[in-house]
Amino acid sequence: MTNPSLPAAPPPVPTLLFLDVDGPLIPFGGTPEQYPDGYPTYRPARRLRVPESGANPLLPRIDPALGPRLAALACELVWATTWMDEANECVAPWLGLPDLPVVHWPEPAPDDLPGGPGVHWKTRPLVDRAAGRDFVWVDDEVTDADRRWVAEHHPGRALLHRVDPHHGLLDADFAAVEAWLRS
Ligand SMILES: [Mg+2]
Repeated sequence: MTNPSLPAAPPPVPTLLFLDVDGPLIPFGGTPEQYPDGYPTYRPARRLRVPESGANPLLPRIDPALGPRLAALACELVWATTWMDEANECVAPWLGLPDLPVVHWPEPAPDDLPGGPGVHWKTRPLVDRAAGRDFVWVDDEVTDADRRWVAEHHPGRALLHRVDPHHGLLDADFAAVEAWLRS
């Protein structure tokens, strides 16, 4: 029973999900054994904000069915990709998603970002952006060096989930993220 004399608890802060595009959404590098006919191609869920003819030729590799699955995750989606604002012009409509917040990477070159050997150039900016909030980072390039760095520098919970770029996001990836979000 709630005590009316106590202030209401603040609403829970949703977990962030930093989403990469190349690899998780656009698979690449699959072998002819894995994809004898090449990658399947798809049509966008919605009209893109730019002419489709001028858009990235790899966009048709994005399965628009991933959009509702991403939207159904109990978290707040944020683009964490070198596509930056183009992700909202091309990828969000392709998936049928609304515009999402975008991480704008710091200038100058990401190579200058300290972090230690093997730490990805996105790692520190994402920890900065999370600002203590729990987050999931879905990317094909995360490694244990990033997990260690995040564990040392981020006070909240974090799941750094690597997706195999040969296949892009699979059922097993969604299952892993969902299980972590529930835990
Ligand atoms: Mg990538």
